[in-house]
Amino acid sequence: LVSRENHPDRSVVRVGGVPIGPDTMTLIAGPCAVETPEQTLQAAQMAQAAGASLLRGGAFKPRTSPYAFQGLGEDGLKILAEVRAETGMPVVTEVVDAHDVELVASYADMLQIGTRNAQNFALLQAAGEVGRPVLLKRGMSGTIEEWLMAAEYIAQRGNLDIVLCERGIRTFEKATRNTLDISAVPVAQRLSHLPVIVDPSHSGGHRDLVLPLTRAAIAVGADGVIIDVHPHPETALCDGPQALVDGDLRELARLARELPPVF
Ligand code: PEP
Repeated sequence: LVSRENHPDRSVVRVGGVPIGPDTMTLIAGPCAVETPEQTLQAAQMAQAAGASLLRGGAFKPRTSPYAFQGLGEDGLKILAEVRAETGMPVVTEVVDAHDVELVASYADMLQIGTRNAQNFALLQAAGEVGRPVLLKRGMSGTIEEWLMAAEYIAQRGNLDIVLCERGIRTFEKATRNTLDISAVPVAQRLSHLPVIVDPSHSGGHRDLVLPLTRAAIAVGADGVIIDVHPHPETALCDGPQALVDGDLRELARLARELPPVF
């Protein structure tokens, strides 16, 4: 279903009216985690001012440590819905448990399935049944084939509105949080008709890497990027070192616009 063999034209996925696909470069931005109404609104306003058309923000956070901030849950979803009402930005947010899919879908415009759940087949199937577009991150140790097969689990349940997201993979390299597999973008686009975007924040793990990795994503033909922003990264409850502040994000959007078109 997700293969390009039977579907030669590349697909466009619409999220609350915003297209992701060929001929667009969709900027998704927002806080890694929803912390407070003020922080989320400020991050959304920063994102919107820089040209982002979709708001990201985690209410259910899949943290490596059980002692780390786990997100605000439904209270976080309510904040995202309020910020959408204020800014008009459709919301992308993660769901980590199959039992929460309906709840998250009742607030979100797009469901995100993160790297840690990339092969949680019950969750993928539940996400395929709820009538919302899905942003599917690549598993940090997943091959491209495993990633596409994960998408197939969603598609098999009747939902072809899937966007693939390369977010870096595990390698021996420790200088970056993950190794951005930039070649995965054209490979996935050759094998699948689904749009493919890049997460330079979670791959690099540091704000200095977000701009160069974004440029790489654009140069290689990605259909969008998803970026962490925070009004005060030094106090962020999640992934502060990789969050961009206002000026950084505007600069990123400006430089991205100036890149020569892909040939
Ligand atoms: C995220 O985008 O908030 C996130 C946790 O990303 P990943 O699943 O890629 O680590």
